[in-house]
Amino acid sequence: QAKRSKAARFNYFEADYEVRTQERLDIIRRLRQAVTNNALQVWYQPQLDLASGRTIGVEALLRWQDNGNFISPAVFIPLAEYSGMITEIGHWVLRQACADLSELTALQMPVRVAVNISMQQFRQDDFLQQVTTALAENRIAPANFELEITESVVMDDPTVVIGLLEQVRQLGVQVAIDDFGTGYSSLSYLKQLPLNTIKIDRAFVMDIEKEEVASIIDMVIGLAERLNLTVVAEGIETDQQKKLLTEMGCHCGQGYLFAKPMPFADLKKFLNAFRPLDS
Ligand code: C2E
Ligand code: MG
Ligand code: MG
Ligand code: MG
Repeated sequence: QAKRSKAARFNYFEADYEVRTQERLDIIRRLRQAVTNNALQVWYQPQLDLASGRTIGVEALLRWQDNGNFISPAVFIPLAEYSGMITEIGHWVLRQACADLSELTALQMPVRVAVNISMQQFRQDDFLQQVTTALAENRIAPANFELEITESVVMDDPTVVIGLLEQVRQLGVQVAIDDFGTGYSSLSYLKQLPLNTIKIDRAFVMDIEKEEVASIIDMVIGLAERLNLTVVAEGIETDQQKKLLTEMGCHCGQGYLFAKPMPFADLKKFLNAFRPLDS
């Protein structure tokens, strides 16, 4: 029974991700058009302090509406990477997120903004310059800005990436490792990585009620504690997941239980409604 549903889920993802070649080229062409026409958007999903319910940060997530339909980033980001467009798109997301954060700061609603960074983007010669410029032009406090990179970015070339991350941290910018536990094991590098945050992948949170998964999450939280890192659990959908995570010592979470990703205009309303009375 369990095996069966796993297979079904796998096929579901296959159907979702395996876009045929012709369709892939077509998506790339339309994405290029969308970039030209400024048709991409940056949406934001709140990250909350689980104890107080206060929003401590937001994650910037790309959205592309093509002829009225949203195309999932899980489909178009890999194609943007494949076609090389990700460097231009990623640079735009960086600037847009900084501009939006600058507006939030002016509205007395400063939060930390986290931006996802692809490998290609991260390894560009002028990446640090791009970050420095985007922060300076929008007068952003670097501590309010976070870069999310995945384990596969780290494991691509650990020595080079650790050096780059050290420079990112010298700017005062925060660093998060995304989808933790899903990629090549970076466990042996974790101690050497200049990190602030570990994000536990949704795949683990989803199965937290299984004992073996719970023990993995528990281990990651313990590890993070010892390394003095913040843990953010991704994809919290139920009260039970939130409760179990809290009991294990996880302080921050993100997920549909609290809020889905939303356009910037809605984020402003969200932050305004949940603004603590004493600030
Ligand atoms: P990610 O960075 O791990 O982002 C979290 C994903 O989980 C988002 O999917 C978010 O909408 C989804 N999510 C959050 N809470 C829940 C929940 O409770 N239930 C469910 N079912 N899903 C939840 P999204 O927005 O579709 O993005 C998918 C991936 O695309 C991201 O995963 C990230 O790897 C990539 N991506 C998105 N925006 C960017 C970007 O600007 N640049 C780069 N390089 N990658 C991006
Ligand atoms: Mg992310
Ligand atoms: Mg993630
Ligand atoms: Mg993920």
